[in-house]
Amino acid sequence: MSSNTTNQPLSSSKMLAGKSALVTGSTSGIGLGIAKALAANGANIMLNGFGDHSEAMRAIAALGVEVDYNGADMSRPDEIESLMSAAAARFGQTDILVNNAGIQHVATVADFPVARWDAVIAINLSSAFHTSRLALPAMQTANWGRIINIASVHGLVGSAQKSAYVAAKHGIIGLTKVTALENATTGVTANAICPGWVLTPLVQAQVDARAEQLGVSIEEAKRGLLAEKEPSQQFTTPEELGELAVFLCGPASSNIRGAAWVMDGGWSAQ
Ligand code: NAD
Repeated sequence: MSSNTTNQPLSSSKMLAGKSALVTGSTSGIGLGIAKALAANGANIMLNGFGDHSEAMRAIAALGVEVDYNGADMSRPDEIESLMSAAAARFGQTDILVNNAGIQHVATVADFPVARWDAVIAINLSSAFHTSRLALPAMQTANWGRIINIASVHGLVGSAQKSAYVAAKHGIIGLTKVTALENATTGVTANAICPGWVLTPLVQAQVDARAEQLGVSIEEAKRGLLAEKEPSQQFTTPEELGELAVFLCGPASSNIRGAAWVMDGGWSAQ
């Protein structure tokens, strides 16, 4: 398994001091890991997501930055508009936008419930369009901004029973490219990050389902999941993804535009 099990950000600097970041879906998993990494490097943070957010608030505040929370449902454009207004009111503007909120549903195309299809597309794809359209004008005026879309290796390749997810993730890579191109001569960049397996609540549900279906232990189910797709046999961690997000916000990344950057243990190299 991965060498980084500290649950703490891997780097700390003041590189992002004075910037503010909105990370959607940051009450757990990858979003929380990215929010912590941006905070550890000085950015103020607007958290979003469902469930208990008190632990996330405490963890970010402990890193010495300003932090706030807005519980907008990212499937709803009206609530996204309120979220963007609240972030601007609290921090002046959103300099760094991380579109991370996402859900999964596993079923064949023929059996896929229509309401789940609509929800996956709304949360995993359309929400990024809405946050981006609302954040971009202020970024363009400031001539600095970073949009980081959390896609997936499923934005590059497919897997059976994940039609809505794969469609949304391929779509968000397309949105990333267009956003990058429209701002290519400015200080506003847009890039996508494409993780392979990351052991978060979203994937734990798939591990649990596999263990039950095959009648094996949770550890066995994890090994099986990795063995099928990920040559490194290792989960990527939220902390590692946080470091990639920090890098994409830094000066060395100013000419990285429209990339779909994999961190997938070799999954898409096969
Ligand atoms: P997670 O379930 O731990 O976190 C998802 C976050 O999104 C939570 O904070 C949740 O509250 C929030 N969320 C869900 N629906 C929402 C809604 N309607 N409105 C607002 N917030 C909502 O999952 P995760 O694995 O950390 O996934 C985060 C992102 O990373 C997703 O876009 C996912 O597709 C992507 N991703 C995950 C993996 C993985 O292996 N875990 C791999 C590739 C990509």
